[in-house]
Amino acid sequence: MSTETPRRTFAIISHPDAGKTTLTEKLLFLGGSIRSAGTVKGKKTGKFATSDWMEIEKQRGISVTSSVMQLLYNGVQINILDTPGHQDFSEDTYRTLTAVDTAVMVIDSVKGIEAQTIKLFKVCRMRGIPILTFINKLDREGKEPLDLLAEIEEVLEMETYPMNWPIGMGKTLKGIYSIPDNTIEVFNETHEREIIPFDGQKVLADYEKEKLEEDIMLLEEAGNEFTMEKVRNGSLTPVFFGSALSSFGVQSFLDHFVTLAAEPQPRKASGVLLPPDSEVFTGFVFKIQANMNPHHRDRIAFLRICSGKFERGMEVMLSRTGKKMKLNQSHSFFASDRETVETAMAGDIIGLYDSGNFQVGDTLVIGNERLIYEEMPQFPPEKFAKVTAKNALKHKQYHKGMEQLVQEGTIQLYKTPFFEDFIIGAVGELQFQVFEYRMKNEYNVEIEFHHMTHELARWVTKGEVTDKMTDSRKMLVNDQQGRPVLLFENDFALRMFQEKYSDIELSTGWELL
Ligand code: GDP
Repeated sequence: MSTETPRRTFAIISHPDAGKTTLTEKLLFLGGSIRSAGTVKGKKTGKFATSDWMEIEKQRGISVTSSVMQLLYNGVQINILDTPGHQDFSEDTYRTLTAVDTAVMVIDSVKGIEAQTIKLFKVCRMRGIPILTFINKLDREGKEPLDLLAEIEEVLEMETYPMNWPIGMGKTLKGIYSIPDNTIEVFNETHEREIIPFDGQKVLADYEKEKLEEDIMLLEEAGNEFTMEKVRNGSLTPVFFGSALSSFGVQSFLDHFVTLAAEPQPRKASGVLLPPDSEVFTGFVFKIQANMNPHHRDRIAFLRICSGKFERGMEVMLSRTGKKMKLNQSHSFFASDRETVETAMAGDIIGLYDSGNFQVGDTLVIGNERLIYEEMPQFPPEKFAKVTAKNALKHKQYHKGMEQLVQEGTIQLYKTPFFEDFIIGAVGELQFQVFEYRMKNEYNVEIEFHHMTHELARWVTKGEVTDKMTDSRKMLVNDQQGRPVLLFENDFALRMFQEKYSDIELSTGWELL
């Protein structure tokens, strides 16, 4: 695609089953995407487009690959980064959010805000990026629209601004009223898009019209003031209602998305603010995908371009090491297919063939200045396991594999004081499986896990934790940098600890960036 076309790069944040896949497919379809809708995930069809997907993907029928999709709409190239959910929720899901400029929060109107949405929201909040909300499944009997807005405001502490308003829901769904356009998008069984002016409309019964007018008046009186600034810094979310499955309200959403979503923003690397149109090419690796092709054992590093232009074959420097390299093998992704990319620009994601050079968080830059983006926090793990090699004689490979995979960002490593037992931490179960698979296939080491019951990690930022303060429910370990971390079994154990030792300060790790 042309490097002159404006870019908008986003990811969907949602809880499993809210409708992320369905909405993505509809958006791709509307955008006249390179491929038609229905090819987003193999999961739904049980088919895999290519034979070289990771074994785990095949066995479990899920997509480990967080693919990047593109669509062209109203002269804008929209890059959608898939955020794996369900069992494939992992650190990569969080990391993906560091590579986007906008998030779309999909909420199930029946269930309201759910756990995974909150977690992902926190990453977006931390980055201060715009969040657009799509409240889905309007064709079902859901919560009251006003209650849903109140829920967003209370739980996420973010102002809401409805862009459209439902007229009925579930069986009584008549349509959605567009507040800025003063029109009604009529809901019909054929899913044909039908928009009529509100003034002079004849589709609403008197009581429906009255209810709508009442609601709108209430929103005008008690609602928030809309400013683009609030949208851009993420303190106000424009809210759209619709039904992805019925293609209802999706196009209206997309029409507004193009203006509300942020273009690639200037980002800071080593204190230097680099605008996207800078002469200097920079980007950072936000994800490394191993073994997409088991026969070649290759790895793909996903690079978010932050400034300048990418041209295949260009020479760049890996800032961490100062090493120069030519970028000859570059790919764009659409689900499981790869295509070679010749040029790309800020906002785009390219996949780089990697023979072991890259780590998650690495910056690539053209020229000799070792600029470094510090976009990649360490995300607090929620699952822990003690790990050992099945065969003690293989300790050399075991240590080597462990070191490399930890550095690359596959898994987090902690050690117990004194005995230095290895404890690995992950955001999702899948990371353990990927780790196990790669240890076996790349380092020829079979490993054994002893899953732990701990679920929370807190870094000790003030005070000293001694042996006396710990027991089986709270355990002291050190992270990769040697910082003390407490692992707790649950919230209750954490609260008890905090009450008892109020002079010890703990952090979730997010603040340690
Ligand atoms: P994901 O897990 O967030 O990707 O969710 P999916 O897109 O796979 O959707 C989960 C389920 O909800 C599927 O059975 C969808 O058909 C269904 N679904 C998605 N959108 C809607 C909608 O607008 N209305 C209704 N009734 N069901 C929907």
